[in-house]
Amino acid sequence: MKIYMDLHTHTAACDHGYSTLKENIDAAKEAGLACLGLSEHGPAAPGSPRPVFFRNYKCIPREYGSLRLLCGVEANIMDYDGKLDMEQDLLERMDYVIASMHISCVKPGTCRENTRASIRAMENPCVRILGHPDDSRFPLDYEELVKAAGREGVALELNNSSLNPQNVRQNGRENIRTLLRNCQKYGVPIVMGTDSHICYTVGKFEESLKLLDEMEFPEELVLNADLENIRKIVLAKTF
Ligand SMILES: [Zn+2]
Ligand SMILES: [Zn+2]
Repeated sequence: MKIYMDLHTHTAACDHGYSTLKENIDAAKEAGLACLGLSEHGPAAPGSPRPVFFRNYKCIPREYGSLRLLCGVEANIMDYDGKLDMEQDLLERMDYVIASMHISCVKPGTCRENTRASIRAMENPCVRILGHPDDSRFPLDYEELVKAAGREGVALELNNSSLNPQNVRQNGRENIRTLLRNCQKYGVPIVMGTDSHICYTVGKFEESLKLLDEMEFPEELVLNADLENIRKIVLAKTF
């Protein structure tokens, strides 16, 4: 499978990222990507940039030879109503929005509460990707989640970092398997993201690809496999 995009990457703009945007861009080109997404952590995450960082995206060129850059946010889900940590008018100015649950921003709830939080977040028209729904610290009802993603036209993320046993997220592999099985059952697309915090992992999807292979997951449900699919991710207002 040819991979055209990596839409989940961070930079040294957050306090636990180690590469510059230029280093990520160079790495994305080297990895043969056609599209790189900058998805810096939303303002509520400790050590993340302030809102002005996102408001100033207009100064960043979006074309680098064969590579297109998208500037977005990994917004934080703040409560079980799916409230995000960014004003709606600023969300609308992003090229795309990932919404994720992080322990630093929301207390893990019951399976029902976490599922509700995720579904409510996906109902926000700016949210195009649900980030790493694969952490046993935030148990989810995968069947409900996948059906809602299908309804809202939101892509569920296969997070390559969650397959790394050193990741703090728990039971990533097992949860991703359940996620993928449900996506197959309901024909709901996924998007792979590396969740890179350093340039050396940008565009590197080995673990995810191995798992997709193992599960015989259909390529047509993997958004990264066709560059045209960025139309499904990018907010109409910025495209
Ligand atoms: Zn995250
Ligand atoms: Zn991330």
